[in-house]
Amino acid sequence: RLISSTKLSNQEERQEHALRPKLLDEYVGQAKAREQLEIFIEAAKKRGEALDHVLLFGPPGLGKTTLAHIISRELGVNLRQTSGPVLERAGDLAAILTNLEPHDVLFIDEIHRLSPVVEEILYPALEDFQLDLMIGEGPAARSVKLDLPPFTLIGATTRAGMLTNPLRDRFGIVARLEFYTAEELTRITTRSAQLLNVNIAPDGAFEIARRSRGTPRIANRLLRRVRDYAEVRADGHVTREVADAALSMLDVDHAGLDVMDRKLLSAILEKFAGGPVGLDNVAAAIGESSDTIDDVIEPFLIQQGFLQRTPRGRIATLAAYEHFGLSPKKQD
Ligand code: ADP
Repeated sequence: RLISSTKLSNQEERQEHALRPKLLDEYVGQAKAREQLEIFIEAAKKRGEALDHVLLFGPPGLGKTTLAHIISRELGVNLRQTSGPVLERAGDLAAILTNLEPHDVLFIDEIHRLSPVVEEILYPALEDFQLDLMIGEGPAARSVKLDLPPFTLIGATTRAGMLTNPLRDRFGIVARLEFYTAEELTRITTRSAQLLNVNIAPDGAFEIARRSRGTPRIANRLLRRVRDYAEVRADGHVTREVADAALSMLDVDHAGLDVMDRKLLSAILEKFAGGPVGLDNVAAAIGESSDTIDDVIEPFLIQQGFLQRTPRGRIATLAAYEHFGLSPKKQD
């Protein structure tokens, strides 16, 4: 399975859960989002009010779910978790909303995938803590209004751009999560190694960190695989050399690019002469969905300077040519 895959097995889910920081102070990096939230959480608590609705956006695995749990814990309230595609009918959301206690957090993952009918009843719920429901059908249908307890919606999305404007406007707090630096990921890897009882050298942790696509979920996943390698092929001690050998076996190269990253870049370089090429054409060429390319693969390649998105399509940069030992096409 791919390193950058966003789906988790049940076992992985449990392990992830164990590694999740519980408090804002343990949450590494994201200084800007953390500072803002610290202030807004304290202010809401002082006033005895529900926290304003929060929108968290950024690529998968950067800590949106973790942050939502931390916020509810810092507020001292319950968290109810659901996701956009799961809420099919208005009644699904109504059932959750009417069961909230005052100031509770409702966490909706993949909020850009809410159905329009569900989104429609969410608006008044967010704005006035009111539920407008239609009961019955045809001429007998009537609308009922229910008061809801004040609550905080935390929405998470990989693409803020896919949210409708009216929905986006209802979030008082918007935080964009960034890719982590190698130094931050080293701290996360070191902490996870402690929790998992892995014997790791500082340069071993750094090697995993700098090859983890700036993403804590990937760092934790690679740490588990490197540990396996160390236990079978070495004496269990994760040194830089052991980490390097394990990561090479996992097809994570020295720049931290995985199989899909390289597949995408080499398709653009070799099949499309470096671009510009449209997303759908790239997707067809490598047999991957446009969504995955957009959400998971490209953000990191762009951040690392291997790829550019232009109005005419994707373009491979000089760094991409160099990475593959190719020389860029002549401009004439
Ligand atoms: P997302 O919801 O954005 O996809 P998650 O919140 O599920 O990401 O994070 C994935 C894993 O990465 C978590 O289980 C957690 O262990 C780890 N993680 C994420 N952010 C941090 C952080 N800031 N500090 C430490 N660990 C983190």
